[in-house]
Amino acid sequence: MRDALSVRLGEANLHLGREAEVHGRTLYHRRRGRARARPPDQGNQPCVALTGAGVSTESGIPDFRSPTGIWADFDPAEYASLPAFRADPVKVWRFYKPRIAMLTEAQPNAAHRALAALERAGLVEAVVTQNIDLLHERAGSRNLVEVHGSIRTATCPGCGSSYPRAAVVAKLERADAPTCDSCDAILKPDVVFFGELLPAAAIERAFELARRARLLLVVGSSLEVHPVAALPEETLTAGGRVAIVNKGPTPYDGRADLKLEENAGIALGAVAGELV
Ligand code: NAD
Repeated sequence: MRDALSVRLGEANLHLGREAEVHGRTLYHRRRGRARARPPDQGNQPCVALTGAGVSTESGIPDFRSPTGIWADFDPAEYASLPAFRADPVKVWRFYKPRIAMLTEAQPNAAHRALAALERAGLVEAVVTQNIDLLHERAGSRNLVEVHGSIRTATCPGCGSSYPRAAVVAKLERADAPTCDSCDAILKPDVVFFGELLPAAAIERAFELARRARLLLVVGSSLEVHPVAALPEETLTAGGRVAIVNKGPTPYDGRADLKLEENAGIALGAVAGELV
C-alpha cells in the first residue's frame, strides 16, 4: 500500500518490539494481546516530512534542546542571535567554527537516506527542514525546503558578496572569522539567527506544503521554534493528519494520529525498508 505511511510507521515500531504511543484517532487495535495496525480511513498522499535537529543526532550532530543539546552549554542569545552577531561577530564565529567543521564531516544517517528513498518512490512529496547541515541534500532529497537557511553559503553584510562553504572553510583555517575579499567585513553564515526573518520564499512554500499535506510526518523536532512549530496546525486545520517520530514531547503529541518515541534512523529506516 503506497499511501499508508503512518500505518507502516506503526508496523515498523511493532517489528521493533516497542509499544507505540498512539493518540487521537487510533491506528491500532488490540488482538490476542498484541497491537496491530489498522488501515487508515483516508489516503496519506501527499505526505510532507518536517524535520528538526533530532534527525541529525544519529550523524553525531547534537540537537539544541535535549539535555545533551547545544543550548545546555551555550546561551542562544549570546551565540545564535542577530544582536549577538552584530555586537561581536568574532565571538559568534568562534562558536560556529568548530560547528561548521563538525557539520562538514558528518555523514547522512539512515533517517536522511530513508526520506530520500521515500521521495524517490513517490511516498514523500517534500522535506521541510529546520536543519542547516545539508545532510538531507547529501542523502539525495531533492524537493527540500530549508526554512532556517544552511551552511551552504555565507554572505558579506557590507557588499552582499556570497561565498560557498568551501571558501568559508578555507578562510576559517586561516582566521577565527571569515572576511570578505572585497570589503573586509566579517561574513555572516546564511543560517537564520534568532531575531532574524526567515527566508520568505522558503517559509511560504513550507506553509503551502503543510496545508496541502494529507500527512505531515514530523521527525526529530521539539516543535518549539516558531513559525515552523505552527506547520502541524496548518495541516490539521486543512483536514490532514500528523504523525510524529520524536524522542521527547512536542505540543502536538495529543493531536497526532501517531507518536513514536523512537530513534529517527531506526523508525524511518524500517519504514523505507518495507516500502521501497
Ligand atoms: P530541538 O533540539 O528543539 O528538538 C530536537 C528533538 O529531537 C528533541 O525533542 C529530541 O529529543 C529529539 N531527538 C533527538 N535525537 C533524536 C533521534 N535520534 N530520533 C528522534 N528524535 C530525536 O530541535 P528543533 O526542533 O530542530 O529546533 C529547531 C532549531 O534547531 C532550528 O533552529 C534548527 O536550525 C536548529 N538546529 C539544527 C541542527 C542541524 O542542522 N543539524 C542542529 C541543532 C539545532
